[in-house]
Amino acid sequence: MKRIIIIILCLMALEGYSQDIHTYFEKVRTNEAELTAFIAQMPKGGDLHHHYSGSVYAETYISYVVSQDYWIHRKTLEVLSQKPDGDRGWTRFSSLEKDGLLQSYKEKLFRKWSVKDYNPSDYPSDKLFFESFGHFNIASRSVQDAGLAELKKRAQAEHVSYIETMFTGIDSKSVTLPAKEQLNERLRRMSSRRETGRLYLLMDSLYGVVMSGGGKSCAEVFNDSLQARHLRLKIDDSTFTMRYMNYVTRVMEPADVFKAMVIAFESASISPLVAGVNIVAPEDHETSMKDYLLHMQMFNYCHTLYPSVKISLHAGELTIGLVKPEELTWHIGEAVHTGKAMRIGHGTAVAYEHNSYGLLSYMREQRIAVEINLSSNEFILKVKDDAHPLMLYRNFGVPVVIATDDAGILRSSLTRQFVLLARRYPELSYREIRSFVYNSIDYSFISDPALKQLIRARLDAGFHAFESTIIPAAQKAETGNY
Ligand SMILES: [Zn+2]
Repeated sequence: MKRIIIIILCLMALEGYSQDIHTYFEKVRTNEAELTAFIAQMPKGGDLHHHYSGSVYAETYISYVVSQDYWIHRKTLEVLSQKPDGDRGWTRFSSLEKDGLLQSYKEKLFRKWSVKDYNPSDYPSDKLFFESFGHFNIASRSVQDAGLAELKKRAQAEHVSYIETMFTGIDSKSVTLPAKEQLNERLRRMSSRRETGRLYLLMDSLYGVVMSGGGKSCAEVFNDSLQARHLRLKIDDSTFTMRYMNYVTRVMEPADVFKAMVIAFESASISPLVAGVNIVAPEDHETSMKDYLLHMQMFNYCHTLYPSVKISLHAGELTIGLVKPEELTWHIGEAVHTGKAMRIGHGTAVAYEHNSYGLLSYMREQRIAVEINLSSNEFILKVKDDAHPLMLYRNFGVPVVIATDDAGILRSSLTRQFVLLARRYPELSYREIRSFVYNSIDYSFISDPALKQLIRARLDAGFHAFESTIIPAAQKAETGNY
């Protein structure tokens, strides 16, 4: 026994932390405020799963539309830059201010553009969440500089030194596809019959149309503007690095998804700032469900064309009651096997997957990480505590990373996600939670190995500083010797 304790202590010393911090963590984890103070100061590595527009807080968006003196509809709370003809319900923010109503309308917008003061009996949580993106779109498109600066500032304040943000602005309107309706039908038919050979031949011809129709230049224009913005805002510095994930929207028609996906892969293949490609929007949407397999086949096709481009996929962001039970059995499996996902976003439905143990073992063997978003899953899917499969992933040895998803809409933070983690899953020791932090760098899509090593070294230094100062500071407080 003594020998085992000595070995554990030696391992801790090797990993750079002492028994003291483990003991102190176990003490503070039962008190939420004490735990929050501890976690807030702890380095948290990277946030690998979050959406740019959903991560910016509503304060930023509201202050923008007020500063522009946009029009707001008094009943629907829709905000527009120009007043539409006819309807008399529209008013300018400046008029609301004159009438002493600005504050109350701002509060209404907070409740429409985020979960602030959310009352479950008022509106379904998943609808409020996904609809909010469309509501604040008028501001999120215009405040991208301020929005990205906000994400960086928040990350640094939270001791987060790397983020991979889902952010894209590829404009592919100029690339047209012929006979789209017929094309959509053919793509769907070949996919559902699993006529893979014919399907890939069709994709080959579509790929040619997209690329010869200007797809490559769409990717280049986007990459140039992204790089210019990234440099102008001085996003990267000696303490912080940001990379971007391109994404496609799964609720669009198949030919449009394919076009967007091909250009997203092209962009990621040539820009060192674009870390990979993802797919977003509600997974339980009728079109998302109908085309799920087809989307995975499209990712498979793009993967063969662009094997160096990293893929992370929202998959299994579902739960019982949201869709038919048989639809819960295959999305994550298809994402890793067909879609070639190197990370899975959410994976909340994994317990319902056909051969879930086999799938989890495969994810462990292939080192496919799962991006866990506790607040998001609780709000949108009502999945939390032991209904959440976090421990299932962990027990099967699947690499776990902790992420925020949409800290702005959810009015959360990465600190809050780690607090929930430590409170809800007492089986996880400090050592293991610390390893989740390291996973957020190890399973990041940073392409430059030297940069990855540098960011990991930053994390080492951060933990060293944190662990060597937090205990003496706590001891001083405990003895009253401030
Ligand atoms: Zn997400």
